[in-house]
Amino acid sequence: MTPKVDILILGAGPAGATAARLLALQGRSVLLLRGPASRNPHAGSLPPTIAEVFRSIGVLDAIEQANFYPDLGVVRWWLDAEAEVESYVEGSRGYHVQRHALDELLLTLAESAGVEVQRNSRAPRVELDRGIVEHDGGVTEARFVLDATGRAGLIARQIRRFWDPRYRTVGLCGLLRASETFDADPHYNLMEAYDRGWAWSVPLSPRCRYVCFYVDASIARDGETQFRAELARTVEFQRLFGDAELESPPWVRDSSLYYSERYAGTNWMLMGDAASFADPLSSSGVEKALLSAQFTAEAIGRCLDRPAEAGEAIRSMNAREARVWREHAESAARTYAAMLDLYDTPFWRDRAKPPEL
Ligand SMILES: Cc1cc2nc3c(=O)[nH]c(=O)nc-3n(C[C@H](O)[C@H](O)[C@H](O)COP(=O)(O)OP(=O)(O)OC[C@H]3O[C@@H](n4cnc5c(N)ncnc54)[C@H](O)[C@@H]3O)c2cc1C
Repeated sequence: MTPKVDILILGAGPAGATAARLLALQGRSVLLLRGPASRNPHAGSLPPTIAEVFRSIGVLDAIEQANFYPDLGVVRWWLDAEAEVESYVEGSRGYHVQRHALDELLLTLAESAGVEVQRNSRAPRVELDRGIVEHDGGVTEARFVLDATGRAGLIARQIRRFWDPRYRTVGLCGLLRASETFDADPHYNLMEAYDRGWAWSVPLSPRCRYVCFYVDASIARDGETQFRAELARTVEFQRLFGDAELESPPWVRDSSLYYSERYAGTNWMLMGDAASFADPLSSSGVEKALLSAQFTAEAIGRCLDRPAEAGEAIRSMNAREARVWREHAESAARTYAAMLDLYDTPFWRDRAKPPEL
């Protein structure tokens, strides 16, 4: 007989692990499939607004105990040659995180709440009609199947995903290490706009920084040559990081925007990046994923406990995810448009108009 669970979740990033934990705390049986870990180190900044989200999903104490590197503000060389320094208000701070550490912590918390986790288990096939998932550990039937596979979008791609046809963006990412402390505040993010993109740096220690150049996919190449070429087009990043060593060859991460035709049906839901992708400009992808997971867990609780309300729960999930993506896309387009006075180049022009929905 096929084993059955209430909920099977594909993907154990922030969205998957969080929804799994919240659903287990509701008393549901949850199976979470965690695909193989990424080969490249990924890091991100979580601005101070994330603390309230961590609190509302019940993990703030665990996050505080994990001692992530504090995020105290942003220095931008953006519309002006002068640095614009944004310091977070006294008493509030965000976190600079190595993503494998954050993901592992959220996964451990899910396991402690009773979630069954299968590691290194990919799900190559999902039969949505019957709620049957074939995965590396076997075949499982679930009342709800949740897609939290991020950009891979295992179910999302069966539903229908829309890409903005006008452009694709990628991040050229690398980990830089210096023999001495960088000449920048060790807890601040750095951002610099230049003619064909923008640069972003997340500190992980006073001598180690994660650096990404966001450029059009048409010019992107893996490897150090392209990474150094982008660095050379900047002014401040070149000054700060021109002499730093790369820990490993830089890599390309697709950062193009997309959204889905629908986000929920009678036995499936899409969460976090599986549902839609917010421009990294906002630095709020993890926050968006956690909120999406929280809303999804509530919607499923409603569907399972009060079947008469299932239609309304699914409608509001669809409306919410569509609104969230639209707001993110419009906000990113406004930021790109504001730059046109300085750089009226294809990169900034193409991204300055919000996508037509
Ligand atoms: C270059 C770049 C920089 C970014 N910087 C930031 C930042 O500074 N701050 C921020 O908040 N956000 C940032 N983001 C966005 C952020 O990374 C995402 O929004 C966030 O990780 C979404 O979480 P998620 O759980 O939805 O998806 P993910 O984190 O992508 O997790 C999906 C998981 O599913 C797994 N998976 C995939 N396929 C399968 C399968 N078939 N079976 C099982 N598992 C599978 C993957 O291995 C992964 O573990 C950045 C994104 C990019 C591309």
